[in-house]
Amino acid sequence: MQTIFRLDALRTCVADLKMRGKDQIGRSLALVPTMGAIHDGHLALVREARNHADLVAVSIFVNPRQFSANEDLDAYPRTFDADSALLAAEGVDLLWAPTLDQMYPAGYATNVSVSGVSEGACGASRPGHFDGVATVVCKLFHQVLPDIALFGEKDWQQLAVIRQMARDLDLTRPHVHAIIGVPIVREADGLALSSRNRYLSPEDRARAVALPQAMHRCVAVIEQGEAVPNALAALHVALLSAGFSTVDYAELRDSETLAPLVAIGPRPARLLVAARIGGTRLIDNMGLSANL
Ligand code: AMP
Repeated sequence: MQTIFRLDALRTCVADLKMRGKDQIGRSLALVPTMGAIHDGHLALVREARNHADLVAVSIFVNPRQFSANEDLDAYPRTFDADSALLAAEGVDLLWAPTLDQMYPAGYATNVSVSGVSEGACGASRPGHFDGVATVVCKLFHQVLPDIALFGEKDWQQLAVIRQMARDLDLTRPHVHAIIGVPIVREADGLALSSRNRYLSPEDRARAVALPQAMHRCVAVIEQGEAVPNALAALHVALLSAGFSTVDYAELRDSETLAPLVAIGPRPARLLVAARIGGTRLIDNMGLSANL
């Protein structure tokens, strides 16, 4: 695995890797963007990337522009050596770990902002977050020039934002031919893997399982015909009584357009939730079958 910290070196490395096949024909490259603190959720993206491309690049960059002033930027786990070992063991070809000044040099002034799918849910509870995400992912696509890019369904709204941006800014051709969503990887008890889970005390970790459990119940009762507002209100109560301090949002949305829904219809729907426990903000989402 080649580890690169500077843009000029990245460009040479990518060109070299793509052309270094034994028969000297171009090889396809997949990009998996991350903020590090690598876990099995990230590694699932890397493994899926292998199914679609000859070469796999992973980026690690804790992007300050996607954190608000009151969020956990300084505390965000940074475990570069362990991350690097895990990625090398997975056979990753290129680790792109730009420094802050490589990504945002002095005088940097451009922002990518996606409307529509970025509104509400995490867009409302984390103002500016999706501008930061869209900006850094747009830059990563131009830096690495991948043929495909992979993102986790764990961040369902983020995936929608990136797909929208890629379409709108013509990034899907020539660079990124496909944006692939990878299903959520969960712990044995159902909690979605997240770099932020390591903030949880053992007691809060035990309580946090209430999130996927209450969401499963909510999905089941809606599918059985319960009115959506009632099911969401019950989910809210269940989370607070399980020890969550706040529910940032619990919403049913169209899986693709992310339009808010008050009832299930013929199109697939998604339950999206963000809630806080012991100061840690957890997000999760689950699909509902369409009501045909
Ligand atoms: P992050 O480092 O948290 O920005 O995540 C990097 C990528 O990994 C994003 O595309 C996430 O959606 C994805 N990811 C994080 N956790 C999981 C998970 N539990 N299952 C699947 N993908 C995940």
